[in-house]
Amino acid sequence: MDNPRSAHFSEGMGGGRRPGAVRVGIGYDTHRLEPGRPLILGGVEIPWASGLLGHSDADVLTHVIMDALLGAAGLGDIGRRFPDTDPRYKDASSIALLAEVGRAIAAEGWALSNVDAVLIAQAPKIGPYVEQMRGNVADALGVDVARIGVKGTTTEGLGFEGEGLGMSAQAVAMIEAAGG
Ligand code: MG
Repeated sequence: MDNPRSAHFSEGMGGGRRPGAVRVGIGYDTHRLEPGRPLILGGVEIPWASGLLGHSDADVLTHVIMDALLGAAGLGDIGRRFPDTDPRYKDASSIALLAEVGRAIAAEGWALSNVDAVLIAQAPKIGPYVEQMRGNVADALGVDVARIGVKGTTTEGLGFEGEGLGMSAQAVAMIEAAGG
């Protein structure tokens, strides 16, 4: 019986995971900056007077990459997977959680095509650390570093990022059916 409220897209096995299938996901996150906290971005501790506030290490760049990957695979988001009410994730290394996300996605039969992420922050400049960040993300996911994009931008002093109150990040991820 036709469901008038359903669009009837054709659905392959396993939520569309047929050979050659590709999926995309998006991640967005914001953390507040606080004096005296360590600043960890893409698994790199950057010398800076303030760092991001959060239950885990508050690595906003790695958080958005996880959310993009989980979204692409239809596996929810990091808030559901690693709840901040769970003491196991207090000060957790986000890069270690990213490895866990990578394993979960692989277990569903997906391979990573690529990830591209942007950090929105007035300061510090992340250029000198970008290659190390890409390497950390690639290692956690077990992929070639060429599949990982990381960049930074300012907001020309506008908004909470521009005023140095916080940092935000965005990422997109594309995954493909493994072996497809
Ligand atoms: Mg976060």
